[in-house]
Amino acid sequence: MSAATGAVTDALRELHAEFAGVDDGEVADYIPQLALADPGAFGLALISMDGHRYSTGDAEVPFTVQSVSKPFVYALALSVLGLDEVSRWVNAEPSGEAFNAISLERGTGRPDNAMVNAGAIVTTALIPDTPAAPRFGRILDCLSRFAGRRLDVDEEVYASEALTGDRNRALAYLIRSTGPLPVDPVAAVETYFRQCSVRVTALDLAAMAATLAHGGVNPLTGDRVVPEPVAAQVLAVMATCGMYDSSGDWLLRVGLPAKSGVSGGLIAAGPARFGMGTYSPLLDAGGSSVRGHLAIGRLSERLGLHLMHNPALAGSTVTLVTTADDLPSAPAAERDRARHEQVAVVAAQGALDFTAAERVLYAMDEAGPEGTGAVVLDLLRVTDIDTVARAMLRSGLARLTADGRRTAVADPDGRLREPGDGAAAPRCFATREEAVARCVADAAG
Ligand code: GLN
Repeated sequence: MSAATGAVTDALRELHAEFAGVDDGEVADYIPQLALADPGAFGLALISMDGHRYSTGDAEVPFTVQSVSKPFVYALALSVLGLDEVSRWVNAEPSGEAFNAISLERGTGRPDNAMVNAGAIVTTALIPDTPAAPRFGRILDCLSRFAGRRLDVDEEVYASEALTGDRNRALAYLIRSTGPLPVDPVAAVETYFRQCSVRVTALDLAAMAATLAHGGVNPLTGDRVVPEPVAAQVLAVMATCGMYDSSGDWLLRVGLPAKSGVSGGLIAAGPARFGMGTYSPLLDAGGSSVRGHLAIGRLSERLGLHLMHNPALAGSTVTLVTTADDLPSAPAAERDRARHEQVAVVAAQGALDFTAAERVLYAMDEAGPEGTGAVVLDLLRVTDIDTVARAMLRSGLARLTADGRRTAVADPDGRLREPGDGAAAPRCFATREEAVARCVADAAG
């Protein structure tokens, strides 16, 4: 076993050993078929943003996805209709109530959020239904792409819930009576039952959560399942509403977007870090897996995964602030050395986002004798620039120029380039020496 495989698998195994003996909670029995689950089953899986898979215990035991389907069908609705349209029908407020509560907005009857049954039934009803692409087919395709493999339906669990699902039917009729159900309540609930009966494993759940954490691209298959903004929207609603009436406490203590289901599945996503899926059918009073909750809570605590910890505080963005005469490539001749003294050099490294771009611009403002003179920005060791950072750097450079400072950029990979620029962005050069030379020449000329 390699080092990484060992370290991560060991962490999962330790969690498994720590909590496998906990037998608090009950297996759900209001859907009779779910009562047949093995109360001892316990599986843990984690998938990284590179698609590395780690698991232990019953991570490949199939069970039905139940409410863990809700964020993914919400993602599908958001992809097809957009946030504004979906929000006309389903709100995004934590209800503070149980998953099957009548949590409808006073006055409009709009369900509080897409993570409780009322909101999930409406969300399912929003998925377009056409002869060429029937509603459930679209949902199954979407769940399968999130999992990275073809999923199927557990017909026995479906039949069992269809037989006993009167509370959900009652919810659907109630919603229609107050306005916001765009389709026949019976059809909506039948599709919702089928979606809840899709068969998955803890490893599938980890892949599904990892796809949301990875900005909507499945890290196993490379498939873009939903647009990046949709993945962020879904994670936001999972963070505030995914654990029903314990969502606030979960965000406080565990600090990760999550979603539970009554068959014992639980997902948690560390944005840009990992997706986790757990399976253990013993449920707490709120209908969430007891061992899953304990395991993800402990992992978050041990590995410092709480979102609000701000793990992304970048190390050094700006690696060098100097003047060109101090560079190894500076010419020896006294006359040129003096000219090079007038050229400040700021070098950046890594992936540049808003925070990093602010640091770079601040360093450029400050560089040079009392923040004057020419300044060269060296992007040789920059690995990526997002659109926000690119726009900030371009306008920052323009502002420096407007303030009378000569600027040039060493940008061999064209990272500052935008479509209107042609071959190169203005005043960008292949090497630092060329950028410095241009500033020196400008001073001479
Ligand atoms: N199918 C289940 C129901 O509607 C899903 C509930 C859940 O997993 N919390 O009752």
